[in-house]
Amino acid sequence: MVTAADTFRLWADVVVTMDGDDRILTPGVVEVTGGTITRVSPPDGGPVERVGGLVMPGLVDSHCHSPMTLLRGAGEGLPLGRWLTEVMWPREARMGPDDVRWGMTLAAAELLTGGVTTTCEMYLYSEHLAQAASAAGLRSVVCAPVVDAPGWERFGTWAEQAEAAVALADTFADDPLIEVGIAPHSAYAVPLEGLELAASIASEHGMLLHTHVAETRDEDAGLRERYGRSVPRLLADHGVLDVDRVLAAHCVWMDDDDLDLWAAHGVAVAHCPQSNAKLASGIAPVADMLRRGITVAIATDGPASNNNLDLWEEMRLAPMLARLRSLDAQTIDAAQALAMVTRDAAAALGRDDLGVLEPGRRADLIRLDLGDPAFAPVVEPVDVISHLVWSAGSRAVTDVWVEGRRVVSDRRCLTVDVDEARREVTARAARLASEAT
Ligand SMILES: [Zn+2]
Repeated sequence: MVTAADTFRLWADVVVTMDGDDRILTPGVVEVTGGTITRVSPPDGGPVERVGGLVMPGLVDSHCHSPMTLLRGAGEGLPLGRWLTEVMWPREARMGPDDVRWGMTLAAAELLTGGVTTTCEMYLYSEHLAQAASAAGLRSVVCAPVVDAPGWERFGTWAEQAEAAVALADTFADDPLIEVGIAPHSAYAVPLEGLELAASIASEHGMLLHTHVAETRDEDAGLRERYGRSVPRLLADHGVLDVDRVLAAHCVWMDDDDLDLWAAHGVAVAHCPQSNAKLASGIAPVADMLRRGITVAIATDGPASNNNLDLWEEMRLAPMLARLRSLDAQTIDAAQALAMVTRDAAAALGRDDLGVLEPGRRADLIRLDLGDPAFAPVVEPVDVISHLVWSAGSRAVTDVWVEGRRVVSDRRCLTVDVDEARREVTARAARLASEAT
């Protein structure tokens, strides 16, 4: 649990606020009191901690299955169907709560040292996932999964899994780092009644509803054959899009009507460019989404399909793929890409308390080393935005604060014993890979 009751003021050479006006202060001071940002301004002579460098909002990873660090590298090179049925699912069937706890703990260290301060999670043993994230000082929106697939019987029926989301939300009601949502996995892994139940629970309890949509062409074709309509239309017809906050991951195989539905219902997208590329799923129509005013966030997806949790790589690849798709170098500029992992990513989660440095928001901040060669030259202040997106990367992140608590200092994660987590995950991964159950 984080208790940061004191006030501190960080003095940086450059402060990138990511507010609507894209303010860049050179230099700037960020004041934090009790985990909340209370002031962002040019230096005014008060006492400060001189951190130098560049301070900006922590990144928000809008779609992840972090404990899959346990399966990183497994089944490499198999086509998606065999990868899932022969490698992922059998190992997940052997996973226990402590496996998930250690998988999340190692992932938390990777996310935090890479400048990610919030992650939106969907994985089994959510309670243990949330405990591990919170213990590591990582903010998480933990979406309790609802899945009707082999191996998931141990978590009860899909209806029981959906009801468990409510209990989970109660468990973490007092934890400032954890918000609980509900995640019916997808229209192909949950019956329509399950989607409806999840939607009604989300509406009743004000939860984020998070689901996978139209990730692959086969999925789209299969569901069209079964239900005679696209997944977005199916979700609309069964009331899922009436939930206040809906976050759809992937959304690769979407036509104009599908995108219009997203825009009409305010559905946000978690765009996973590397995962979609590595698994040969396709290139999502991000420019078409943005043109309609759809909120698009960028995400890593799980580390088994990607294979790291480096959101900076995703931030670079997203505009590159969008430009290739449109053959237009003006598709998604650097400021927009940066917003898609900060301000817009927070908005995609329905969290207007994150993603921007301004008074009243949570104090989730990162500092980058401007001495990194990738940050030179800066001729105009706005050059730092291009460098952040196109030439720097996670290696420049040196310090991280979540809820006003310093969790990474000089590139070292203060909250996780990384050597211990690495040993645990390695031993557990070997056990999961073995035939014995
Ligand atoms: Zn996913």
